[in-house]
Amino acid sequence: MTELYPICRSITGNGVRDSLKILQRYIPIKIHEVPTGTKAFDWTVPKEWNIKDGWIKDASGKKIIDFKSSNLHVLNYSAPIKNKIGLEELKEHIFTDLDHPDWIPYRTSYYQETWGFCMAHHQFIELSPGQYEVNIDTTLKNGHLTYGEYFIKGESDEEMIISCHICHPSLCNDNLSGITLATFLARQMRQRKLKKSFRFLFIPGTIGSIVWLSRNEHLFSNIKQGLVLANLGDNGPIVYKKSRIGNSELDKTVEFVLKNRQVDYSIRDFMPYGYDERQYCSPGINLPVGRITRTPHNEYPEYHTSADNLDFVDDSSLAVSLEILLEITELVDGNRKYMNLQPKCEPQLGRRGLYEALGGKSGDKINQLAMLWVLNYSDGEHSLLDISNRSNIEFKIISDTADLLRAHGLLEEVVYR
Ligand code: ZN
Repeated sequence: MTELYPICRSITGNGVRDSLKILQRYIPIKIHEVPTGTKAFDWTVPKEWNIKDGWIKDASGKKIIDFKSSNLHVLNYSAPIKNKIGLEELKEHIFTDLDHPDWIPYRTSYYQETWGFCMAHHQFIELSPGQYEVNIDTTLKNGHLTYGEYFIKGESDEEMIISCHICHPSLCNDNLSGITLATFLARQMRQRKLKKSFRFLFIPGTIGSIVWLSRNEHLFSNIKQGLVLANLGDNGPIVYKKSRIGNSELDKTVEFVLKNRQVDYSIRDFMPYGYDERQYCSPGINLPVGRITRTPHNEYPEYHTSADNLDFVDDSSLAVSLEILLEITELVDGNRKYMNLQPKCEPQLGRRGLYEALGGKSGDKINQLAMLWVLNYSDGEHSLLDISNRSNIEFKIISDTADLLRAHGLLEEVVYR
């Protein structure tokens, strides 16, 4: 995060490329380049934006605003300008945050070509009348939209997507927290032997998910779960926003993990406002994608300001967020459904030597009660997670019990497709 923090990212441009190249040192992300003008449903890939410099000099020639001291100082996607103007005209192109006069606000103008600066309000009100020299050295040209994708193939084609937006410049909670945690999650998951497949998407917000979805409709039937990661580094409680479908396998899994960890959390229903879950959960796509954050955007004062910096996020919050993500993905991967092959009355466990298995291996904790739960609810409808949830028996025990019963020919896995 410290290395990514100074880079000026946007929805297109070299900041995104440079950031993805840094992430490639940790996981083999594939970088995709989509040309300007490419259609994506109702949208079009915009011109590529790059910035070299930006400053304002006062009448004495002193730089009063310098992009090099904070990349938030230049309106993100600002058109270039080099001119001498009076204070009144300059003021029309300056954005401040009245409520937090010491902070530089983060503002963008992606789809309306204009130029501008952002500055602390207390500095703004002290600007004296006179001539100012403004210089924004940016380019807006035909180029590409860049995104990163890392696919970990499991035994099954069934997959989960993990998505984070990578378009914000020097802002930590939103969303270097999502980017770094997705990277470390992927790095740990690639060491595991996975039953399901996992796809990590590092995309510019809104236009990035729209472009990805428009290019990958053939995958939709494989995507059984998805999670948008954002704002995971502050010390607020975890907030999970359900998928539009609601009560999806993922919604149940996340709630199960949060409940069992005894962390502070809340669960919200889907609403069509927020991050890229808006696109994943649009009615014509409607994938079971939820969103996990700590304090959601707009609900903490530092949001979209220079105060969302390296000091605002803390190591222990990031670490706990990562542990939660690891547990969710582990459960997603291990969860499965079975059919009981002897559903008419209970099967005779003693004849199969299954009573000897009870407590046979010390520490296994495979017990008769778990067997009865698994046999009774393996009806092709209830997953092992549902059974664990209902029985209050640990998922690992339920899962091991199912393996044992399957080995004895009493269960058959309900295979995806
Ligand atoms: Zn944001």
